[in-house]
Amino acid sequence: RSGCEALRVVARCRPMSRREEAAGYERVLELDVKLGQVSIRNPRAAPGELPKTFTFDAVYDASSKQADLYDETVRPLIDSVLQGFNGTVFAYGQTGTGKTYTMQGAWAEPEKRGIIPSAFEHIFTHISRSQNQQYLVRASYLEIYQEEIRDLLAKDQSKKLELKENPDSGVYIKDLSSFVTKNVKEIEHVMNLGSQTRSVGSTNMNEHSSRSHAIFLITIECSETGPDGEEHIRVGKLNLVDLAGSERQNKMGAHGERPKEASKINLSLSALGNVISALVDGRSTHIPYRDSKLTRLLQDSLGGNAKTIMVATLGPASHSYDESLSTLRFANRAKNIKNKPRVNEDPKDTLLREFQEEIVRLKAQLEKRGMLGKKRRRSSRRKKAPDGEGAVENEGEEDNEDGLEKNMENYLKEQKERLEEEKAAIQDDHSLVSEEKQKLLQEKEKMIEDLRKEQEATELLAIKYKAMESKLLIGGRTIVDHTNEQQKMLELKRQEIAEQKRREREMQQEMLLRDEETMELRETFTSLQQEVEIKTKKLKKLYAKLQAVKAEIQDQHDEYIRVRQDLEEAQNEQTRELKLK
Ligand code: ADP
Ligand code: MG
Repeated sequence: RSGCEALRVVARCRPMSRREEAAGYERVLELDVKLGQVSIRNPRAAPGELPKTFTFDAVYDASSKQADLYDETVRPLIDSVLQGFNGTVFAYGQTGTGKTYTMQGAWAEPEKRGIIPSAFEHIFTHISRSQNQQYLVRASYLEIYQEEIRDLLAKDQSKKLELKENPDSGVYIKDLSSFVTKNVKEIEHVMNLGSQTRSVGSTNMNEHSSRSHAIFLITIECSETGPDGEEHIRVGKLNLVDLAGSERQNKMGAHGERPKEASKINLSLSALGNVISALVDGRSTHIPYRDSKLTRLLQDSLGGNAKTIMVATLGPASHSYDESLSTLRFANRAKNIKNKPRVNEDPKDTLLREFQEEIVRLKAQLEKRGMLGKKRRRSSRRKKAPDGEGAVENEGEEDNEDGLEKNMENYLKEQKERLEEEKAAIQDDHSLVSEEKQKLLQEKEKMIEDLRKEQEATELLAIKYKAMESKLLIGGRTIVDHTNEQQKMLELKRQEIAEQKRREREMQQEMLLRDEETMELRETFTSLQQEVEIKTKKLKKLYAKLQAVKAEIQDQHDEYIRVRQDLEEAQNEQTRELKLK
């Protein structure tokens, strides 16, 4: 149930936008879907300069469908989360390359729905088909903006949330709201609520979303009786992350706040880059998770207990060459991260356990009030009635539904009638003195009043009990499964095809690697002449490789210089600000 596994990295290129087409930009990206490769050509290339090629777990070109990406890449991850693994999906890339399109998509059009709505469907369909399992699903939605965490579902938006650490469950956000959701509609509602909050208060949503990280969090708890006869709870946490735009922020903004804002967002993203670099570089002993809120929060997703997918989004046109190349490099580095995912079984403090206990407590209270016990007596009494069968069946159905309420109503009505009768009897009793009568009547009034209060309390209890119970999802009962067998078969087939495609690509990539290796072994030389020829060919190939590596080093060097200059500038700014303060 556990093991080491690499971060899965896929690249996705959006179509040319109308604007780009109108401006006549060239296409600099080529995707080989079969091989899982992206080639990028420098539009300012010197003659003879080769395109740079990157290999990923999968690549999705402009014609790819949302469902392709979901079925092939994301579905297995969500299945794991349903089994109790932690899972994370990141969208990383320049603003305008399709991060939000990939994560959310266009909700109104079914075939354009992104990862998040597809995951909703997937999760609740899975639960509805499950057997002998109890699920509790809850969602949170937050944003990191200027290194501050904002709870998008909280009523009070002025509150700043803090990160805390717990030796058992790791890093968590204190006081983050979460909503228990019983079906797709409810979780969609939560999502929409958060999205609205997100857009309120930002004058320019595009600009805001390009500078903030949005994280939708789904926690799935599942309880099941294990082979040992004991009940076990597994908890899977799913992070769906729409990162801030990866582009270098323009510091020459018109507003006074811009530079500060920009440097802070760079902080979270550059911290992400540094964490990845440190993880990949075998010599690093320190991983700087603590440098930013984002990296702290997603510590488990990077080199820890989680299965993680990164979707690198790209634009195809020449004007985004620099950013696309830097995205590709970033993604390429992330490929080498190794995670150690494991099933989270029986952790402390699960909400599911809490709910189960609360339900038992409420049930006991109701039973004490005679509500649940009475019903049983009554239905068994009915059973004995000669016109039995129909009535018994009805009563049986009522057991789960409104039997409780009706039962209580009857009981209270009986009690009330009895008291009213007694009241009338007192009134009619002429042997009593009027004072005494008054006193007795008052007593009865008080009893009726108490009964009413009791009734209210019991009603509240029953409502609470029912609400609690309905939150725990049990396959096939709480959710109606609309899909028929045929649809299920279709889904299975789609999954199989996706799986096969994935395997094919892996094999192709493997073959390519082998080719290079075996080239050397094949060579047995029949003559000196042939040896010279083959060695020259090999030399040429190696020389080209050397040139590519050299160019890469030069690029990296330039990049470092740029980053360093940025950091120095930021440092100067902060020193200035500090002095001012
Ligand atoms: P980001 O969130 O990275 O800033 P968006 O998701 O907002 O980018 O995408 C920018 C634009 O490109 C949107 O109009 C979106 O509909 C479109 N787009 C992005 N990816 C695709 C795609 N794969 N297919 C079609 N349109 C896309
Ligand atoms: Mg976006």
